[in-house]
Order: sequence, then structure tokens, then C-alpha cells
Amino acid sequence: MKDTTPKARKPRTNAVHAGTRRSQYGELSEAMFLTQGFVYPTAEAAEDRFLNAGREEFIYARYGNPTVAMFEDRMAALEGTEDAFATASGMAAVNGAMMSLLKAGDHVVAARALFGSCLYILEEVLARFGVDITIIDGTDLAAWKTALRPDTKVAFFETISNPTLEVIDIKAVADLAHAVGAVVVVDNVFATPTYSRALELGADVIVYSTTKHIDGQGRCLGGVICGTQEFIRGTAEPYFKHTGGSMSPFNAWVMLKGLEHLDLRVRAQTETATRIAAALDGHPKLTRVLYPHQEGHPQHDLALRQMAAGGTMVAFDIAGGRDAAYRVLNALEIILISNNLGDAKSIATPPYSTTHQRLPEEQKAALGITPGLVRLSCGLEDPDDLIADLLTALDAA
Ligand SMILES: *Cc1c(COP(=O)(O)O)cnc(C)c1O
Repeated sequence: MKDTTPKARKPRTNAVHAGTRRSQYGELSEAMFLTQGFVYPTAEAAEDRFLNAGREEFIYARYGNPTVAMFEDRMAALEGTEDAFATASGMAAVNGAMMSLLKAGDHVVAARALFGSCLYILEEVLARFGVDITIIDGTDLAAWKTALRPDTKVAFFETISNPTLEVIDIKAVADLAHAVGAVVVVDNVFATPTYSRALELGADVIVYSTTKHIDGQGRCLGGVICGTQEFIRGTAEPYFKHTGGSMSPFNAWVMLKGLEHLDLRVRAQTETATRIAAALDGHPKLTRVLYPHQEGHPQHDLALRQMAAGGTMVAFDIAGGRDAAYRVLNALEIILISNNLGDAKSIATPPYSTTHQRLPEEQKAALGITPGLVRLSCGLEDPDDLIADLLTALDAA
């Protein structure tokens, strides 16, 4: 048997091989163990399994499954963490990470530029159970310093925010949070595992919606929590095992196959995003173009320091607001109107009226989510075709 533990191998090698478990048949492609349960040779063996199942002994898919374990180990190898736990969706991962860490009376500081459902978990769920929540401007280090207290248990933020691509200084926030003993939990979807340096910069728990770049082809929902073995197996796993948010083996298999070419896809999509951001820069129909590695981005210097590349997402604001933006979206012929991201297909989203619709007006204004804002997820099509599609559609504004 070949050794598939990560060792000192590079990410692209780990993305193809890490965590593989081969059955007695020696299959080349990862097997999909589409089974919720496992059988025991004897009653005594069943008793023993329930008493002390190791990592390679399975009981029930809510607790673990060989295909899911392959995905978890491969993700941990890529992210550089000791372990990982796979969940039914990105939101199950965010919710489970927070619920398993927090109790009534604890304090959380979170950046305000958050995915709507993350805000719901904080303000509607955790607050209802007596967790004290402080929401701040995550790009303002003085605000973090003021908000963090000795009873702060968790600091939570998106490392690059959805949809306006704010970049948060992971190292500076982690240093402030660790000084009061808080756990740093980051939603790292926009950074992707390809460009992630979250662990090295001080994040303790790194969460992905694998629905996005990791699947990369819009097929399945999924999520993953990466962290220390103590946190993953001692805190997160018991929570999921008993509350039911684990990933299905089918979805884990789809995600495993997605990881094999994640790096190639993300790099190509990033190259396209860089070209699109440059092509749109200064366009007379646009009031701003946001891309972390392009001059003019509000945290441009930080983005250059913190990220090896600008990522696969671009945001731009169309002069003339909602009506002009809708004319442009409706004139696109290749780029689809949808709300997934990180997909092989390029996708344009108007966040104001869709993904962020339920945010109060003043919050949208504070976050720069204007009626004319378009979030563009750059896909795998030829960049020349995408640029032509965008420039032609912008004539319609
Ligand atoms: C999509 C997304 C989520 C939620 O993930 P699901 O898989 O849809 O549950 C959370 N955070 C960010 C930044 C996302 O883009």
C-alpha cells in the first residue's frame, strides 16, 4: 500500500492524493462508500466499536464514513491544519463551529461584512441563546481593539468579504483576539484553499462552503471546518454527530474529485478575474471596480501582503443604479445570472436585491451594497469572450 499521508508534499500533490483510502480491490479513483451504516462480525465487536471506534472504524454516517474521511483528511492536508470535519453545507459548518464553541454569557466580536446567513446565526440564533454579539467594521483595527474583551470567546470574520471584497488583516486581528484569549474563526470562501494563508496568519478555525470553488461545478452543497485535532474531534465532531449536520458520502465524493483540480481551476479563474478587472477599470459606465490586487481597492496594500493573488471574484458598480444594472445583466449572453460562485460557469449576481436583500438599508449602505452593484464570479470560459460579453452588455446601461 502506498502511503497517502501528507508529509512535506506540495498542495497540488496533496489535493490529488492526501487521505486516499483504498479498499481490497485497489481502485484507482476514490471509492464512494454510499452507505449510512456498517456491519460488525459479532455482537462483541459491535459493543467494542461503540466503546472506542478509531479513525478507521465506522459506525454510522452521521458520525463518519470512509469517503467523507478521505475528503476531511485531504482538506486538512491542503489547509495545513491537524484535522477537518465535513458538513452538509457551508452554513452547517459556520453554525456548528459557533454552536460547539459558545455557551450563554459568552461574547463574540464579528465583522459586519458578513454573508446574510452568517449574520442570522449571530443575531437571530446565538443572541437568542444568550450569547452577546458585537458587530464592527472588520477593516478597522481600532474597532477590534475596543470591542474585544476578557470574556470574548470568538472573533469571527470573512477574510475577504462577500460581495464587496473587503480584505481583513488576519494577522493583526488574530494577534488582538489571542491577547484576550479568543478563538479566531474565519469564513475563508473567497480566499479559497489555493491562496489561503489563514492558519499561518493566526486563524484557529477555518471554515469553507465547499459548495463554491471546491465543488466548482455547481453540483452539491457542502462545508468543512479545519482546525486542531482537539477542536475537530473533541468539540466539533460530537456536536455534529448528535445534531445531524454531517456531509453525505455522495457529496464528499463529488468534493474529493473537485479538489483534484481545484488549484488549476482557481488559478485560471484568478487570471481571468485579473484581466476582467483591468478591462473594466475606468469604464465610463462604472462608478467603481473592486478587485483586491488592483490599484484603487481600499485595502490594496494589505491584499498584496496577505494574498498571493486577487482571487476569482470581481465587483463593480454600474452608474444609474438598479435599472442600469438590470439592463446590463439582462444583456449578458455568456455570463449567467445566478448566485453560486467559484463555479466553472461565470456568474453575475446583483447582491442588493438577491443575496443581501434582507439586510436593512443602512447596513447595505454601510457595506457599500448599492442597487447598481454587480458581483462577478469568473469561470473557466475564455477570458476574451467574457470581456467581450461584459463590454457589449455595458453598452446597454
Ligand atoms: C456560500 C457561502 C456560505 C454558505 O455556504 P452554503 O454552502 O451555501 O451553505 C457562507 N459563507 C460564504 C462567504 C459563502 O460564500
